[in-house]
Amino acid sequence: MELSSSVNRLKPSPTIGASEEVRKLKAKGIDVVRFDIGEPDFDTPDHIRMAGIEAIKKGFTHYTSARGIPELREALVSDQKRIGLGLDTSNVVFYPGSKIGLFSIFSLLVDPGSEVIIQDPLWPTYGSIIEYLGGIPVRVGDWSDQSPSGVFSLEEFERKISSKTRAILINSPCNPTGAVVTDDKIEELLEISGSKQIPLVLDRIYSALTYDGVEDKIPAYDVEDGNLIVISGFSKEFAMTGWRLGYSIAPKSFTNLLVEFQENTTTCPSSFVQYAALAALTGARDWQKKMNAEYEERRNVMVGEINRIHGWKCAPPQGAFYCFPFTGNGSDSVSLSSKLLLQAGVSSVAGAFFGERGESHLRLSYTTPRDRIVEGMKRIRDLLPL
Ligand code: PLP
Repeated sequence: MELSSSVNRLKPSPTIGASEEVRKLKAKGIDVVRFDIGEPDFDTPDHIRMAGIEAIKKGFTHYTSARGIPELREALVSDQKRIGLGLDTSNVVFYPGSKIGLFSIFSLLVDPGSEVIIQDPLWPTYGSIIEYLGGIPVRVGDWSDQSPSGVFSLEEFERKISSKTRAILINSPCNPTGAVVTDDKIEELLEISGSKQIPLVLDRIYSALTYDGVEDKIPAYDVEDGNLIVISGFSKEFAMTGWRLGYSIAPKSFTNLLVEFQENTTTCPSSFVQYAALAALTGARDWQKKMNAEYEERRNVMVGEINRIHGWKCAPPQGAFYCFPFTGNGSDSVSLSSKLLLQAGVSSVAGAFFGERGESHLRLSYTTPRDRIVEGMKRIRDLLPL
């Protein structure tokens, strides 16, 4: 069998790989405190689950429009108008997960040799998708004094734009740093990208998960006017990872191409999942406040415990559900992560997987109950030298 040359650029996902390692240990009966997982440990709320079941009972089990069902597109438009985006249903497509949405977007933008400017450190999947398509991720540091800050240099973004640049990509709140990029920074990025006619792809999958009263705002913007492409989904905000539902918001002409891409790939997201998502968007959100309050408490516990470890340092991240502590000058994150797993039964993801500036850091998720966070951090303190 002769394989395509792009297979050589296909990489395993380090975050999914970390979970596989843990599964093997658990199968041997070893108790692992899990800080590697990038998904809510909360179950999908009942009213959303019931809406999915009702949809199946009513026979909504057929293909839908490649764009998604009209009611869901309407509900998303109302939801997004609330945050200041000017859009209508022709700007929206739903996918079976935002990951395939990202793949679709970059398939339309990236040619071999072209460049996408991204934050560093950043979720490894972006780089993998861009490289798989033959493109080159060009990294700009989100960093100040060893702490993730969301305060990257706009000048650096501008400086890195070349004739080969096809997009600028921002993830806020950011995986792995939890940093929130403020709306005035996004506005400036939109000005830069607008003046160069380069789309700004904004991944807002963690936008509902912010703390300390910080709101993940974006500037008022008419999608049809410009070159903003928003990608997001239901996985984190509504604790719906396994349902697989994401969406993009983009100018109509680009959206039409995304629809054609979907027609030729996944056809549409699952029909009944779309009805569950409709209940998520239109139903009560009180449960979300409780979930976020719990994440904030867990974050406080985890940050406090991290800063008790000799040589480790972490400022409180303001969004998502990850801490990204600095673990000491010159520490090799892959070895450290493996040592913590094998010798302390604590899982994490090595910072090196998230980019050049990720080395000497670990990604620790607080999608774990508070007592387990305390237990895991104690195990680390007991293992590491003072
Ligand atoms: N974007 C970011 C930054 C993520 O961390 C993830 C998942 O971890 C995704 C997108 C993909 O989410 P999904 O495909 O579940 O919608």
